[in-house]
Amino acid sequence: MKWLLVLGLTFFASMPTFNADLNSKNQIIQTCVIKTKISVSINPPTFWFDQSVEFHQYQNWKKSLLAPIKVKQPSKPEPKNTRVVAITIDDGPQKFFDQRALEILKQYHATATFFFIGQQAAYQTDSIKALAKAGFEIGNHSFTHANFASCSSAKDRSEICQTDRILTGAIGHKPLFFRPPYGAHNSRSDTVAESLGHKVIIWDIDPKDWRGKNGPPPEQTLNYISARLKPGVVILMHEKKNTLIMLPKLLEILKQKNYQTINLSDLKT
Ligand SMILES: [Zn+2]
Repeated sequence: MKWLLVLGLTFFASMPTFNADLNSKNQIIQTCVIKTKISVSINPPTFWFDQSVEFHQYQNWKKSLLAPIKVKQPSKPEPKNTRVVAITIDDGPQKFFDQRALEILKQYHATATFFFIGQQAAYQTDSIKALAKAGFEIGNHSFTHANFASCSSAKDRSEICQTDRILTGAIGHKPLFFRPPYGAHNSRSDTVAESLGHKVIIWDIDPKDWRGKNGPPPEQTLNYISARLKPGVVILMHEKKNTLIMLPKLLEILKQKNYQTINLSDLKT
């Protein structure tokens, strides 16, 4: 009998320490029963359980294991094709260039964003309407192609507002983007543009196709751009004869490299 008592005391002494605050033998027995249950009752899923875990903790775990999993949805679906670039074409409108560019872009199922100078846009609204109707985005490129790094706030505002009025009249809404000519801007001009509801946009690839009467040779511009292609880049181009000659070749390369062209607002918002 004595050795049986010693054996029993050894058994209870080997129980996990959390039992130390239990006052009666009955409580100890209940705890043992609970522990026995939790070690076998989780089905599904298969779950190897530490016997020293407290009962209330087990209940919480069981609750969370059985609860449906909530998956956080991304706020904006990702584009199906993530290899995208935005072609932007500055310094129009020029009727012949725009009509031909529209035909080429449509032929390749491509798009571009055109940044127009207000004083040229004023008498070429048909060209602007045709581009907008075809789904191409239109941006504000100031009224006189002014240098915004050396303007005043009043001049910045006047340049942007005059062009907004003309473009809004042609396409039915204010353009989202403003691109400062020469990429020349500062915090003052950016503040003015933003206060007028525009996003200021510059570029990632500048092949300097504005040089010379017709631009550099098409191969030069093409090689410059294609060597720098990366997903998400903004390509700067201008309404020059050699750029128009180069455009189908660039679209062919983009297609070969599995790039899709998208409008700026699809890339930057
Ligand atoms: Zn320009």
